Amino acid sequence: RSWAESGLASPLLQAVQYARYERPNPIQMISIPIGLQRRDLIGIAETGSGKTAAFCLPILHQILDLPRITRETLLEGPYALILAPTKELAQQIEDELLKFAKFCQGIDTMCIIGGQSYDQQSDRLSNNPIYVIVATPGRFKDLLERKMVVLSRCRFVVVDEADHMVDQSFISDVDWILSNIPDDLREHTQIMMYTATMPPQVEKLARTFLKTPIVVTV
Ligand code: AMP
Repeated sequence: RSWAESGLASPLLQAVQYARYERPNPIQMISIPIGLQRRDLIGIAETGSGKTAAFCLPILHQILDLPRITRETLLEGPYALILAPTKELAQQIEDELLKFAKFCQGIDTMCIIGGQSYDQQSDRLSNNPIYVIVATPGRFKDLLERKMVVLSRCRFVVVDEADHMVDQSFISDVDWILSNIPDDLREHTQIMMYTATMPPQVEKLARTFLKTPIVVTV
């Protein structure tokens, strides 16, 4: 299979070519079409499998697909939220996202991690539409509680390295964040969860929030 057959929009095909990703690898081949069909997914995958591209590309594709008016004027809160268990991973994911968004215009992203100033985070959130937020759960929950960010437009959530969310005692924050997606929106919000193992807490999270997910093992 080739990138051309992946169904991704041309600015994204340009970006994977620019990044010298010759062809989609197995997790990308399976996850990308599921992402484009807006289905929920549990990906059993290790770091290094290429899972970052497997969720970043469908997110960007969906944003490119939004009507212009929605993109430019109506955006209130992010279209997509990616939760990662560590600051370093969150930053790496945002770097990948920016790499794939290189040929897309006006898709602003933001990385929200602890240790940064609340004022600066609040300024950025209130001054321009942020399409994708990559965050660690602790600080993101904080901002939600302070109403500095809302999830009323969020349509795509990724929980990356869910097994490490358990190790970092973040699983209850993830649960809290997902519970904060308004009820009427939750059935339209796609969730992708990636994990290397399936501890009971992760299984419970999946059972609570995912809608008939497709399970993919690589
Ligand atoms: P990840 O598991 O998402 O952290 O990705 C692991 C590494 O594989 C990263 O350095 C990516 O840049 C690289 N990578 C991901 N997908 C591909 C691909 N289809 N072709 C070549 N390299 C890739």
